[in-house]
Amino acid sequence: MICFSHRVPIAHLQLSFQRSQKFPKAQYYCRLCDYHCDTLTICISHIKDDRHSRLARMQEVETTLYHLPKPNRQHLDYLDNLLARTQSELGLTPQDIQDRMDVAALLGDVLKPVIPGIGVDLSDQSCASSPRFNASFQVAGSASMDLVSAASA
Ligand SMILES: [Zn+2]
Repeated sequence: MICFSHRVPIAHLQLSFQRSQKFPKAQYYCRLCDYHCDTLTICISHIKDDRHSRLARMQEVETTLYHLPKPNRQHLDYLDNLLARTQSELGLTPQDIQDRMDVAALLGDVLKPVIPGIGVDLSDQSCASSPRFNASFQVAGSASMDLVSAASA
């Protein structure tokens, strides 16, 4: 926002030296909101307005993101190490995976006599730390169904 009389920027917006013909009494102009203010009181009220505050925050975020440095080799190395640590701390162990595969196989054995042609596979094991068991059922000639159980394998 700027003061036309004193040509002083107020808040974090750029200076403009042109008065609006549509708003000849306007002494202040908010570029962020494209909003003209006749008095300082209106100007201050506008700055406190939710819309202006929200737009100002959005502009700050955009400015911050624009000036972030591009990722480099150190960033990639750090992310690689973070993923490896997370996998080792929270990921499924080979025994966890085998236990889940055993449950899926057992479930398939139980269901095959009742539903001929059914297949049971593990699905979405990405939530490794979750105690959920996710299985996908496929009956020949039909769409797949997913089962998510709260019970751990
Ligand atoms: Zn504004």
